[in-house]
Amino acid sequence: MANLQIELFPCREDNFGVLIHDPQTGATASIDAPEEAPIVAALNRAGWELNHILVTHHHFDHVEANAVLKAKYQADITGPASEADKIPGLDTSVREGDRFHFGNYAVEVIETPGHTLGHICYYLPDAGVLFAADTLFALGCGRVFEGTPEQMHHSLQKLAALPDETTVYFGHEYTEANARFAVTIDPDNEALAQRVAEIQKMRAAGIATAPTTIGVEKATNPFLRAADPAVRANLGMQSADDVAVFAEIRSRKDNF
Ligand code: ZN
Ligand code: FE
Repeated sequence: MANLQIELFPCREDNFGVLIHDPQTGATASIDAPEEAPIVAALNRAGWELNHILVTHHHFDHVEANAVLKAKYQADITGPASEADKIPGLDTSVREGDRFHFGNYAVEVIETPGHTLGHICYYLPDAGVLFAADTLFALGCGRVFEGTPEQMHHSLQKLAALPDETTVYFGHEYTEANARFAVTIDPDNEALAQRVAEIQKMRAAGIATAPTTIGVEKATNPFLRAADPAVRANLGMQSADDVAVFAEIRSRKDNF
């Protein structure tokens, strides 16, 4: 199969825009629709015609351009069934375990409640790519706005179970701030220390920190490391359960 093509670009203050394109069929999708102008500019640069918008959750910074892009390109909009009433222009509702096709690529829907109750991620197993939006960030995770820490922990564990080599695109360039926090939770993690140095160089040079991989996040992201003995020892939570450790890390980040 010809390679899936992916374009990443900044939108709004700190959102990422992502376009995917199947060269065999010409199918093009935008992951969420954070902002019209940069998405249109990216389509024009690539010479692609937008057919689909794959929405991850109802927050304004992920759906604001739904209506205008749908009108402009006759794009159809797929999104989470449990947030259907909050997603402008929604055509197709999907849930956990649903499988559909984008061009020649299978797309699997993974429900990841926590940031919002209906948040979904899109996984393309043949391309080895996950679109995690505001569930999993580089060295971070989304704020738990609607769900519980237990739900968010479970959602993140579902993503962590994907193959280590899975490429992960995410919703926001929060990585440098996440890195400053991560080292307070996992101070002796050598892989994290190296990554933080790389991230600081990338951001100083204006380079985006997306994408990442599941393997890199499992090794360095404190929100995926609640079971790690060194993390637990640092928090003084050696005998707590994983959910309690995760909740403690999340609440420290909220107050960081
Ligand atoms: Zn959000
Ligand atoms: Fe967001």
